[in-house]
Amino acid sequence: MTVYNFSAGPGVMPQQVLDQIQAEMKSFNNSGMSILEISHRSQLYTEMEQIAEQNLRDLMHVSDDYAVLFLQGGGTLQFTNIALNLTDQFHHVAYMNSGHWAQKAMEAAQKIDGLKVDWIGDPKGGLPHIQALNSDHLDYLHVTTNNTIEGTTYHQIPETIQPLVADMSSNIMAEPYDVNQFDLIYAGAQKNIGPAGMAVVIVKKSRLASHPELSQIMDYWLEEQKHSALNTPPVFCIYASGLVFQWLKQFGGVEAIYQQNQEQANLLYDYIDNSKLFNNTIPAAERSLTNIVFGTGDQQLDQQFIATAADHGLISLAGHRLVGGMRASLYNAMPTAGVHALIEQLQQFELNHGG
Ligand code: PLP
Repeated sequence: MTVYNFSAGPGVMPQQVLDQIQAEMKSFNNSGMSILEISHRSQLYTEMEQIAEQNLRDLMHVSDDYAVLFLQGGGTLQFTNIALNLTDQFHHVAYMNSGHWAQKAMEAAQKIDGLKVDWIGDPKGGLPHIQALNSDHLDYLHVTTNNTIEGTTYHQIPETIQPLVADMSSNIMAEPYDVNQFDLIYAGAQKNIGPAGMAVVIVKKSRLASHPELSQIMDYWLEEQKHSALNTPPVFCIYASGLVFQWLKQFGGVEAIYQQNQEQANLLYDYIDNSKLFNNTIPAAERSLTNIVFGTGDQQLDQQFIATAADHGLISLAGHRLVGGMRASLYNAMPTAGVHALIEQLQQFELNHGG
């Protein structure tokens, strides 16, 4: 039975990358050692890291004005690090209240002494608008581009006078954003990038300043000076992510995968919109391409569908416990055959349950 993994994270990886990792475990780059054994002070590592970084820069069109960091602690540690590193000037930040993870990011900032934290909007009323907030000078305005749990996305980021910080954990490289619009972009790796255990941070060099009062590992400036190898970096994560970047480049880059992501999401949304049993109530312009939430409105029926789908190899379709229902995460590595298999299963279930 073919298994399709719809998990929200860690998510599906490209098969080609998994095959390559397996093959190279015996000997990385003809070294006679696996990547797990390579010193981070060796040339083998340095070359691998530089290629991974360059491929990420190429994919997202990141200029030399920005540093690219591969750090530990996932997306969650960056919630705190951002607030510690980027608030020197005004000691005032604002967060778009677009969902659960945005709230987590804001709560981390609120723990910092003396930092004024504003909270804009309410996700229950749809995605809050990114406002210009002209009256106050902010160190940054934080936006979560894709709300993994709620299934909503800011597909376009309006111009604002405020410096923008974006959590792109669940749609980085799934659709194109202009990096130049942001002072900082961060993402936990385990959805569209690679294995869990790493975060990518893309930050404008002009926003970096030494922070000797911080623990060194939290100081972005120092991490940039040390090329993300202040201490032992997440070598395997960087290596596997580098292979994903190569795969995505071969695919045609972010623009090409965006086409595929739109096609796949449209197939599923079209089915749900025409279904008499399943529904999704998010306005079309705000719907996520990567996390598609839907349900029958009947908890028991939802559970039954999730179990039946799993029996047919369609794994991890349960919605987040906060919202219930179902969620199909269609990250970059999801083959279109997986979406067709899911739709067939939905159709069959609907037939069997009088939809
Ligand atoms: N931000 C978003 C949008 C997420 O979806 C998640 C996790 O799912 C996180 C942050 C937290 O990431 P991590 O688990 O890497 O700390």
